[in-house]
Amino acid sequence: MRSRTEEHPNLVLVDHPLIRHKLTHMRDRETGHRAFRALLHQIAGLMVYEATRSFHTEPVEVMTPIEKTTGSRLAATVTLVPVLRAGLGMTDGILELMPEARVGHLGLARDERTLKPTAYLNKLPEDLAAGPVVLVDPMLATGGSAIAAIEMLKEAGARDVRMLCLVARPEGVRRMHEACPGVTVYAASLDRKLDENAYIVPGLGDAGDRLFGTTRAVSM
Ligand code: URA
Repeated sequence: MRSRTEEHPNLVLVDHPLIRHKLTHMRDRETGHRAFRALLHQIAGLMVYEATRSFHTEPVEVMTPIEKTTGSRLAATVTLVPVLRAGLGMTDGILELMPEARVGHLGLARDERTLKPTAYLNKLPEDLAAGPVVLVDPMLATGGSAIAAIEMLKEAGARDVRMLCLVARPEGVRRMHEACPGVTVYAASLDRKLDENAYIVPGLGDAGDRLFGTTRAVSM
């Protein structure tokens, strides 16, 4: 299900028939926001399995109806941090599998003067160092906002950060590796490039617009 590519040592491609099937449906421009939202939710849940594989567990004793045995439980509090808006579309799918996780929020916009991504919303738990932090944003294009988000998470104390996205672009993944070594990117697809409007090709268009039905021609 997973492969770390030679060219991108920081990338785990979560490759699975169900994910490929659902992602193809999402790419289809005829797919309306209702189906798009449901598919993103489902894929996020499927990807959690891989993105959490290196989480630490600790032993815990449990009394079964038959006898006492030793099981496992997650050793640390998990924090999800969706980047607004589109990251919200993956959050509930992840929470279905990890309902105890906390959720911080980052809203990023480009500063007109510096052209750098800056936070218009930064609402994070105080003790981010308490456990793994999963940054959630479906589209990794230039890497600019992901790198800015990771810098904010590190400044806020996060020590163990990974990124969960849906579609990544090779140059964005490379930039992430240079700027944020140690942060693994989990993606369902590595697409080709960016077009002149900064959309990933072949991609799926503007993930936020498609998720929330804010594209001009809206179908259900
Ligand atoms: N963000 C999107 O929503 N889509 C892209 O193709 C690139 C960035």
